[in-house]
Amino acid sequence: MYNEAQSTISQLQDRKINNLTERLYYNDSTLLDFEAKVMASGQHKDLYYVVLDRTAFYPTSGGQSFDTGTLNGAVICDVIDSDDGDIRHLSKSEIAPVGQSVIGLIDKERRYRNCRNHTGQHIISAAAHRLFDLETMSVHLGDEYAAVEFDTNSLSPDEVQQLETAANDIIADNVEIEIIFAEASKIATLPLRKPPKRNGHLRIIRIGQFDYVACGGTHCTTSGGIGLVKIIGTEKIRGRLLVKYLAGKLAVEDYTQRFNTTDHLARMFTCHHSDLVAKIDKLSIEHRELRQSLIETQKQMLPPLVQSLTNKVIETGAGKIVVEPIDGLELPMVTRLATLTADETGGLVVLVTEGRLLLATASQSGIHAGKLAKNMAERCSLKGGGNEGTAQLGGADMDAVALYRDEIRKLLTNE
Ligand SMILES: [Zn+2]
Repeated sequence: MYNEAQSTISQLQDRKINNLTERLYYNDSTLLDFEAKVMASGQHKDLYYVVLDRTAFYPTSGGQSFDTGTLNGAVICDVIDSDDGDIRHLSKSEIAPVGQSVIGLIDKERRYRNCRNHTGQHIISAAAHRLFDLETMSVHLGDEYAAVEFDTNSLSPDEVQQLETAANDIIADNVEIEIIFAEASKIATLPLRKPPKRNGHLRIIRIGQFDYVACGGTHCTTSGGIGLVKIIGTEKIRGRLLVKYLAGKLAVEDYTQRFNTTDHLARMFTCHHSDLVAKIDKLSIEHRELRQSLIETQKQMLPPLVQSLTNKVIETGAGKIVVEPIDGLELPMVTRLATLTADETGGLVVLVTEGRLLLATASQSGIHAGKLAKNMAERCSLKGGGNEGTAQLGGADMDAVALYRDEIRKLLTNE
């Protein structure tokens, strides 16, 4: 997250003092190829870098990440705005010696995504300022989504919708976006969203008559270039509100994915996608009721099952045990069956079902189900645990009942 305006102002002041690398992206964010001369080169950790007399590569700053691309074919993996005002282009391979001319190519996909994210942010920030008098505290312009942090702790769903609609209205109006380099004397005459706290040269991004703000980033040339913005959620952060959104292609890709999902479900349930929520709500209530009635039915089956399991008791030196497979019962019923059988036998009952071992012990048995489960887990590569009376282990095999029975007998009799 990044405090946009203050950093931009300080960067521009640095630029004026050092003025080493001419920043071609300041004037033209659509410039994707350029020629430049290597002014300095060196190594940064295990990477090589060059400083050029001019560059269209944007260095990470102001919440916007660096451009990727190539310099004379060398792949650029990072672009850093160094403390002395130079821009360092980093690569895993050597780029070119000092004095040589290089051809730079900017990755269009990433640059345009950054432009759409960044211009989208200015519009969302301006809309929130106009509608709800909110200040932008920080911004995040990521690969997967972008976000703006506002100085409020909440917005209602209706307010979020108003914000999104206002932003998309400005996008649909396709207003011109202008880069203005303003002297101190001119700044006072511009309706800046955030009044600058410092004096000096400023680079202002004007979006029609909708927004003026100081910024060093790359932007679309018209608001329509963003395509659309879609707010995908809000989140509380540091007691403030983070509004997450997708811009342009990212929003369209998200729409496609969501469309495919709802379309698939609508076909599956033979209904219109707008009826899906009601349909699935109804089904889940029905499912819950059916499950409950199944459990009630299975409860009736329990007494004869308890009796049949009790008949399979094995006497060991350490007490009575029952280790048997159980199929076709809901899991809560298996647990209940194990407990009832343990009470009936006064010993240990282990039921193997659907990849699980369920253990239950009678209090008078002196066997701790949780401890026994822990030992079983180690010996039979199972996972889980429990308390004194009941325990559960995952990863069990229905075909290994005899093995489990044998292991339990060994554990109980310390063989
Ligand atoms: Zn900006």
